[in-house]
Amino acid sequence: MKNRILLLTVILFALITACKNEKKTNDNPFATEYSTPFQVPPFDKIDTTDYLPAFIAGIKQHDEEVLAITDNATEPTFENTILPFDKSGKMLTRVSKVFFNLTEANTNDQLQAIANKVSPLLSKHNDDIAMNAKLFTRIKAIYDKRSGSNLDAQQIRAVEKYYRDFERRGANLSKDQQDQLRKINEDLSMLSLKFGNNLLAETNKNFKLVIDNKADLDGLPDDVISAAAEAAEKDGSKGKWLFTLAKPSLIPFLQYAKNRALREKIYRGYFMRGNNDNANDNKAILADIVRLRAEKAKLLGYENYAAYVIDDNMAKTPATVDAFLDKLMVASLPVAKAELSEMQKIADSEGGNFKLKSWDWWYYSEKLRKLKYDLDENELKPYFSLENVRNGMFALAGKLYGITFTKVTNLPVYYKDVETFEVKEADGSHLGILYLDYYPRESKSGGAWCTDFQSAGWENGKKVDPVVSMVCNFTPPTGDIPALLNWDETSTLFHEFGHALHGLFTLGKYNRTAGNVPQDYVELPSQVMENWAGEPEVLKMYAKHYKTGEVIPDKLIDKIEKSGLFNQGFVTVEYLAASILDLDYHELATPAKVEPVSFEKDAMYKAGLIDEILPRYRSTYFAHIFSGGYAAGYYVYMWAAVLDADAFDYFKQSGDIFNPELAAKFRKNCLAESGDDEGMIQYKKFRGQEPSLDPLLKRRGLK
Ligand SMILES: [Zn+2]
Repeated sequence: MKNRILLLTVILFALITACKNEKKTNDNPFATEYSTPFQVPPFDKIDTTDYLPAFIAGIKQHDEEVLAITDNATEPTFENTILPFDKSGKMLTRVSKVFFNLTEANTNDQLQAIANKVSPLLSKHNDDIAMNAKLFTRIKAIYDKRSGSNLDAQQIRAVEKYYRDFERRGANLSKDQQDQLRKINEDLSMLSLKFGNNLLAETNKNFKLVIDNKADLDGLPDDVISAAAEAAEKDGSKGKWLFTLAKPSLIPFLQYAKNRALREKIYRGYFMRGNNDNANDNKAILADIVRLRAEKAKLLGYENYAAYVIDDNMAKTPATVDAFLDKLMVASLPVAKAELSEMQKIADSEGGNFKLKSWDWWYYSEKLRKLKYDLDENELKPYFSLENVRNGMFALAGKLYGITFTKVTNLPVYYKDVETFEVKEADGSHLGILYLDYYPRESKSGGAWCTDFQSAGWENGKKVDPVVSMVCNFTPPTGDIPALLNWDETSTLFHEFGHALHGLFTLGKYNRTAGNVPQDYVELPSQVMENWAGEPEVLKMYAKHYKTGEVIPDKLIDKIEKSGLFNQGFVTVEYLAASILDLDYHELATPAKVEPVSFEKDAMYKAGLIDEILPRYRSTYFAHIFSGGYAAGYYVYMWAAVLDADAFDYFKQSGDIFNPELAAKFRKNCLAESGDDEGMIQYKKFRGQEPSLDPLLKRRGLK
């Protein structure tokens, strides 16, 4: 969920548009620029019935604008082609940003019904533009002459980005090849859908662990037991206990259930999903996906699908990613093995006469955690009231960048609990607006994400100020106790705030490039903020007891720091194994024929994986790569982790984690101008050199 900002960018890319002079006389709230303070969406004036007409009118307007560009009889130039295309489709962007934010943050049946109608319209509209030969011809003409032109660096970057978008979507292919590509895309989208549906059935329907003997619950905490009893009752098995493959049910069972045979049973249920030779089997489907992707890559002129995907990322080539993953695997495997041997000792000392298996890992690592770190979340929570954490992150941004946050109460919001803040520069000038939406509700998707209602940009030489939104699902307040966050929630708030700062600081001139970074860069601005959240100096700024105001004691700070190293060998290895599996599938050249079970076995053997650890996702339930947008891209979290650890280390090495000079450099190169050039070039402008792996290895206790 933390990547929502990226997904939205991708969805909106083809919609990113604008039209300056068209006067709309109807009163649809999306027809014209908003006349609210700071041009925030007029939520109080938007009616559900406004959306569909706004989408239809917005698509029509966009089509007309593109037609005006392609019908232009004069020679293509940046001013008569790229610029109007970059600024086209403004109404569509306005309605899309509000609508797709609300279908995640505050949805209802009516909105879902509209989404079903709108999705095929948008998909067709995007294809029409991607395959518009006249438009591509004009863009190509500008692209071909760009080096001898008088375009500035930002303009050239925008031209190159647009050219590559069209090229990567098949604009350079012959008609026959385009037809082939369309067919492959169509087949792939159906196969991905099927993969996801099968997985849903395998996870939610095809496996249940029903317990009717109380003794089999031995070891489980009371709240887990009562949740299982409730689940059983709902399922028509009153008086029994039901466990499923959903994480909140599965993980506590693996962590706490003393009954080893049942732990094995539920874990087998989990890791065999999609591989049961039943109607929901995913093996043939994923083999087809792999084959078609290899064909698609070949059509587009790439050696394999990984080469196609990574060409657009910082890493550039699959070989770079392979080497990166291998290096980390070499560093983390011994740590995982050491963790295993510590756990084996516990099992032995308890008289267990067996070698640990994969279904034992959670159970014994939990014992190890208590033994080594003794961190009780309930002891921490009073120091992390939502208000204190939020004020802490605002104060941190103030220390680093001089900006301030002032609550405003006169702006329309889409739900009553949503808060709005005006963000100002150190000199008091307006920077943007931040919406904060904290608590779960039925109308909201799970997880946390950051997005915007208005991206920062430029219009007719004037800066357009961003309107950014953070949506979370934190523990709500109860009675007279305020919302108290656990450590994971605290880190999440800082994480999403990092995405928000990226959106607020963005300065690029063109929609296509402003703040637009590769997939393996996206999590740098967010993950880097998590580093500050746990620093003793920063904790002392905000972690204060909600009742007494007492600053968090050093003893607790120490526990937070130490527990950061818990189980990191395992966590890193299972992640790397999945990343390697992903790459192995997508580095196959056509004709790519795989038998998933043996393919996975060979790949994991070559990677040196030990039997006691399975890849975080095995092939038949690897939804990120077979039904989501992460094919050949599961590695990006770790790639960005190298960047964020290295960036933060730079601050630490300077002796001042608030170093204003470094903060200014980070803001300029890695946030404000992040889309101006390639990700690594922007990073090096800040850091002066390429990132080192060491800070990440040290942070995870792998070195
Ligand atoms: Zn994120």
